[in-house]
Amino acid sequence: MSSPLLRRFLLLASSAAALLALCLITVSAQNPPVARHVQQERLWDTLQRLSGFGRNPEGGVSRVGFTEADIAGRTYVVNLMKEAGLAVRVDAAGNIFGRRAGSESLPVLLFGSHIDSVPHGGNFDGDVGSLGAIEVVRALNDGGLHTRHPLEVVVWSDEEGGRFYSGLFGSSAAAGIVPPEALDTRDEKGETLGYWLERLGGDPDHFSAARIAPGSVASYLELHIEQGAVLDEARIPIGVVQGIVGISVRTCTAAGFANHAGTTPMDRRQDALAAASRAVLAVREAVRAEPGRQVGTVGELKVEPGAANVIPGRVTFSVELRDLDAQKLERIGQRVLERFAAIAREENVHIECTAPSVHAPALTDARLKDAIRAAASEAGLPTLDLPSGAGHDAQNVARFAPVGMIFVPSRGGISHSPLEYTSPEDAAGGAEVLYRALLRLDAQ
Ligand SMILES: [Zn+2]
Repeated sequence: MSSPLLRRFLLLASSAAALLALCLITVSAQNPPVARHVQQERLWDTLQRLSGFGRNPEGGVSRVGFTEADIAGRTYVVNLMKEAGLAVRVDAAGNIFGRRAGSESLPVLLFGSHIDSVPHGGNFDGDVGSLGAIEVVRALNDGGLHTRHPLEVVVWSDEEGGRFYSGLFGSSAAAGIVPPEALDTRDEKGETLGYWLERLGGDPDHFSAARIAPGSVASYLELHIEQGAVLDEARIPIGVVQGIVGISVRTCTAAGFANHAGTTPMDRRQDALAAASRAVLAVREAVRAEPGRQVGTVGELKVEPGAANVIPGRVTFSVELRDLDAQKLERIGQRVLERFAAIAREENVHIECTAPSVHAPALTDARLKDAIRAAASEAGLPTLDLPSGAGHDAQNVARFAPVGMIFVPSRGGISHSPLEYTSPEDAAGGAEVLYRALLRLDAQ
């Protein structure tokens, strides 16, 4: 062996030895596996069984709220609750509550999610949190544990919406923000929301009874799949949700002058679509102009008159902004409007936007976030703080109680699709954190 070759061999051998030593250190530094209270297989089995109600050919479910499939899935869940020893009731808005008594006269610890899906949805959105909550009760029963606070598992009605209401129906009723006339909304067959609410076991005649008074819920915890790719890409099993982002939506109109596409010279045009196109890009730039996770989208655009041989005279488009920070939404909104004003001048058109319709951000409670982090650390599961870009029932509960949310990874960030997937390990990891966080809150 010549000396350069020998040197290279020695170098390779020493780096291999160093690598091996590093691996050994990593292995020995890992904590021994922590005993689990929830049972992964039992939870997975109920997820599989629930997926049979409203199953679609693609392997997911179409269990839309206020349909026969929804009712069948709810019956399955009610029976599971009863088997777990819970006292089950359905409130006026069709929300299912399963109660386990506490040893002291205290407000309830509420936890759960939803089981309805979007059309052609998946088997994990809502289901992991609902069945995870029931698994927590079974685990408490297994251990013969009693809590000071009464516990209530909740399955909110019609979270996804679409058939009659825009979504988050049951939790909106609990927060007292469903307008009474909503119950008269009719589907294509002429059947009303009120009729279907009765079919679910609700009570349209005493609808306001579903309202939950502030102070009656000590804390609300919701376990849910992330529906984004942050946890999956970072390979972190538990997300501690900072809050549910606020949404601001404006409808804007660019008004120019519709004219002949062949006879109007380029320097005499008032092209509304050329201006709107610049506006679309300006939204993206205004959103990216400061650091953070804020997002902005132009998702709708209507061009009039909409003919190949006519210069567009009018374009109507949406501007949607989302962030956890209401002031940031306001600031970016102003920046967008300033950019639109400059574009309008340069393109010789008018751009006008409506006042934003705003869903305020709903922040999670610091005490509940701490309980989730401590529970995860106890269970040996790393966490990551992140916002929820999607809406959840927790945002309505935040109107009358402190809320916390636990996210588990969604494979590839795919959701609202039959391809939605969360592994048995991750679902059970989330339920274990829910179990431990509830016991921590109960002790406080
Ligand atoms: Zn959901």
